[in-house]
Amino acid sequence: MSKRDYYEVLGVSKDASSQEMKKAYRRVAMKYHPDRNPDDAEAEEKFKEASEAYEVLSDEQKKAAYDQYGHAGLEGAGGMGGGHGFGSGNFSDIFSDVFGDIFGGAGGGRRGGPARGSDLRYTLDLSLEDAVKGATVKIKVPTLVACKTCDGSGAKPGTKPTTCSTCGGVGQVRMQQGFFSVQQTCPTCRGKGTIISDPCRDCHGHGRVEETKTLSVKVPPGVDTGDRIRLSGEGEAGTDGGPAGDLYVQVNVKEHEFFQRDGKNLYCEVPISIFDACLGGELEVPTLDGRVKLKVPGETQTGKLFRMRGKGVVPVRGGAAGDLLCRVVLETPVNLSKKQKELLQELKDSMKGEKNSPKQESWFEGMKKFFGDMKI
Ligand SMILES: [Zn+2]
Ligand SMILES: [Zn+2]
Repeated sequence: MSKRDYYEVLGVSKDASSQEMKKAYRRVAMKYHPDRNPDDAEAEEKFKEASEAYEVLSDEQKKAAYDQYGHAGLEGAGGMGGGHGFGSGNFSDIFSDVFGDIFGGAGGGRRGGPARGSDLRYTLDLSLEDAVKGATVKIKVPTLVACKTCDGSGAKPGTKPTTCSTCGGVGQVRMQQGFFSVQQTCPTCRGKGTIISDPCRDCHGHGRVEETKTLSVKVPPGVDTGDRIRLSGEGEAGTDGGPAGDLYVQVNVKEHEFFQRDGKNLYCEVPISIFDACLGGELEVPTLDGRVKLKVPGETQTGKLFRMRGKGVVPVRGGAAGDLLCRVVLETPVNLSKKQKELLQELKDSMKGEKNSPKQESWFEGMKKFFGDMKI
């Protein structure tokens, strides 16, 4: 897969200042942010691309490697270099650095009060068939959900959290340290502004309980390893009535018995008998829609690749279907009877070197010459 130039992605020149870079990233990321483009895979892709570009260009070391060697300079450098998609740690770091709390994301702990739940990641192993044709898959995800007993408040039913007397409900207190007055998270309520004096028994005052959710994921046809499906609001429940996080389902396509996949093309190996290879014939080859016949011409050499147009994968982001490429592999007959061996010997004796095996002959010639030159 060819990657776009990072400067082009952000729309900045190579000598843009870090301030200009930040501004450019902000503009692109705002435009394509998943919250503004729900269920838009293309926007999500662009958003990821911009985040990746900024992650590299805002880091002096990575930028230098990229400037000198391009994308290759970042491989194996950790961070986002290797895999696709962003490591959540890295990502929320640059994100909150540039955006602060615009999207109600990352920095929930700072002020206390309602905070958005964490995003979750789930790896979904799919068979090649399901990945190509699409499927609805049930998954079980361990997560935190709002406690039903107390409705997520953490207070025993019939009671209510009371306003913290230390901070008066603000969640912050001022501490005098010498000449300085320092604002701190209130130690009594830990920034929440409220105190639960009678905690709910089921969630011990946390407002959330662990639960394994069963979800039904609709996998669109054509997905491949590395693709992500975002289930909005299916991450961990927020605290104090904050919104839930999202669940990112990461697709992993399992190996197949017959087919190897490369993007939208499929490859498979088909054994061919020496007779069909010599005389031509019809082979049965597997496709994802069942078996089909493949006509093979006479004098087919082992390893030859036959292309069956349109029998590959229709990519999830649209476009024409790929091809199925069948490689025929000559199979030497085994368990030969005496009679069969005699027939083969007869056939062999009738063969006229150069005429019947031009490749072998020229190879022998080459070898003779090679050893002749070495004067052994
Ligand atoms: Zn509870
Ligand atoms: Zn307090």
